[in-house]
Amino acid sequence: MNRRDFIKTSASVGLSAVSAVSIPTAILGMSELSEDSKPAILGGTPFPYNNGPSWPILQGEEKESILKVLETGNWCRSGSSLNMNIQFEEQYAQLCGSKHCIATNSGTSALVASLAALETGPGDEVITSPYTFIATVNCILAHYALPVLADVDIESFQLDASRIESLITENTKACIPVHIGGAPANLDAVFNVCDPKNIPVIEDACQAHFGEWNGKKLGSLGKTGCFSFQVTKNLSCGDGGAILTNDDNLAEKLFACHNNGRGKVSSLDFRYGSFRASNLRMTEFQGAILSAQLKNVEKNAKIRNDNGLYLSSLLKEIPGIYPAKIYDGGTSAWHLYMFRINPEEFGLSRDQLVAALNAERITCYGGYGAMDWVGYVKNVYNTKAARRIYSEKFLEDWGERIQLSQNIKLCSEAIWFMQNQLLAPKENMDVIASAIRRIQKNTKAIASL
Ligand SMILES: *Cc1c(COP(=O)(O)O)cnc(C)c1O
Repeated sequence: MNRRDFIKTSASVGLSAVSAVSIPTAILGMSELSEDSKPAILGGTPFPYNNGPSWPILQGEEKESILKVLETGNWCRSGSSLNMNIQFEEQYAQLCGSKHCIATNSGTSALVASLAALETGPGDEVITSPYTFIATVNCILAHYALPVLADVDIESFQLDASRIESLITENTKACIPVHIGGAPANLDAVFNVCDPKNIPVIEDACQAHFGEWNGKKLGSLGKTGCFSFQVTKNLSCGDGGAILTNDDNLAEKLFACHNNGRGKVSSLDFRYGSFRASNLRMTEFQGAILSAQLKNVEKNAKIRNDNGLYLSSLLKEIPGIYPAKIYDGGTSAWHLYMFRINPEEFGLSRDQLVAALNAERITCYGGYGAMDWVGYVKNVYNTKAARRIYSEKFLEDWGERIQLSQNIKLCSEAIWFMQNQLLAPKENMDVIASAIRRIQKNTKAIASL
């Protein structure tokens, strides 16, 4: 494609919500901007680049559906004749190939309810990944249980399944692999360790809508699979969540756990199950938005996958750049495009590369900081209530089991692009690669800034 065609396509993305890229008029008249030109951080002209549509994108039916809920007064799922929650649950379960879906008010609530339904409590241990959003750990602490963090596989950014076995004790209650970035954890390896020991696997699929493992949708393979519909997620209603399960009994219990112990009964039937429960329900407004948002969700997943794989094919050729590996049999949902920089090989630190890319107007972030998880949990449990369960000495011993050297390294080398950047026309992937190559040709000058 020549420069003029390229500018034409990147400037006319055909989506009304696209954040317009203003291409400097100077470039339009210029001959091909080459990788030998000066990087933007050194005063050069940024390549024309499109960060993708601003997010979320209205799909058309949202307004009408919300107004219907508003005007009928059917705002809560209990007693609603519009069945916005139920409709969404049926659609989502079907799209994901799962038997049951329970909508919740957040992804965190989906995780909390999953652990509640498994009767997790004080003294129980839950094995999970340190490279995740804090909710994955907080849902464990919500039950006064102990997170046991297994280090990451730095190549894939996912929990290193080979470390699970040595962390299992008689107190292990569950394992929560996180499909970070939307890319699958190594589920076969996780099930191979957990299944023989009857340790239930809860998939944290909060970033992994419509990702796949061996042809099955992520979130449909574990005892439960938990999703988030928070506004940045690939499927969104502001805040919201869902739990998938194929287990009929567990589905009933999950429903009751999120509905103060009450089953799927009329709103005036006050019978309760005898287990710890809460109100974690989704409103009908959220259900209405989600059903409308399902419209292009699979089409967008395909676009992200095509662009993500294409970007990896370009970036892996650049010395010192390592796209996150996707395990064989897996398809990423691409909530994040994740890669690592090896600072010695590349010639810049991670933060220097992020700054240089941002100067090119290419949005990117360093991602999760290396959280001191042991210190965090010790602080959270430094209360009178927690001390009745966990002495200082006990937490000291627990902390010694947790070794996260790979996670610390990963957190200093990772760079993320966001999911909507993968919805931009394919040429923008070429621009990212060109920009990184141009930056690499000038590492000495950039490092001395
Ligand atoms: C977003 C997210 C959650 C929590 O979801 P909320 O809807 O924000 O409560 C949990 N785990 C991961 C990995 C997430 O990205």
